[in-house]
Amino acid sequence: MTGPLQLTFVSSAQRVADLPASPAEVALVGRSNVGKSSLINALANRKQLARVSNTPGRTQLINLFTLPTGGTVVDLPGYGYASVPTREKAKWGPMIEGYLLGRSSLQALLLLVDGEIGPTKLDSQMIDWVQANDITTVIVATKIDKVKPSKLAGRKQQLAKGCRLHEGDIFWASAAKGTGIDALRSHVLTLLALAD
Ligand code: GDP
Repeated sequence: MTGPLQLTFVSSAQRVADLPASPAEVALVGRSNVGKSSLINALANRKQLARVSNTPGRTQLINLFTLPTGGTVVDLPGYGYASVPTREKAKWGPMIEGYLLGRSSLQALLLLVDGEIGPTKLDSQMIDWVQANDITTVIVATKIDKVKPSKLAGRKQQLAKGCRLHEGDIFWASAAKGTGIDALRSHVLTLLALAD
């Protein structure tokens, strides 16, 4: 058992240039409502570290959390928010691109896909983009508790195929039930090459 990640919120920024330096970093991204805030809270075993909400904020920010060792977890703004104004939406691409291509401390990206319904078209576009740009990426299937046990094997097969991966290459997680959280914590620490 790894134990909860001791994450402390450090800062929010709209541009990668405004983020503090960090020795090693793992970032999370995914469609709005994919369960990203819930997953960060589960990794840290905290209720309100990252905001859990169905109504997204209007300004989309990069949020940075540190571990006691200095390793960093970065919460990137989600994509596909229906209610975000067009002007804010237009900022998402350059912001994420700036971060993913420009952040030298980035070790890996956790790309979250809804375990019940994913990958969506936007998820597939994101997967294509990270592959084309050689970003080390781990797919995490979220909300896996929402899939009936009788349908789970088929759903896993379908999701993996949609991501052009093997089932064993994907992390299957439920923030609600705690499934896969410990394995993901360990993997994050491994990616950061930090024992915490
Ligand atoms: P975000 O927009 O990606 O940060 O997503 P949130 O963490 O705010 O979650 C969106 C919705 O999905 C909320 O209503 C959560 O309660 C729900 N949710 C998140 N994770 C899980 C999960 O593991 N299982 C279930 N059943 N629901 C979840």
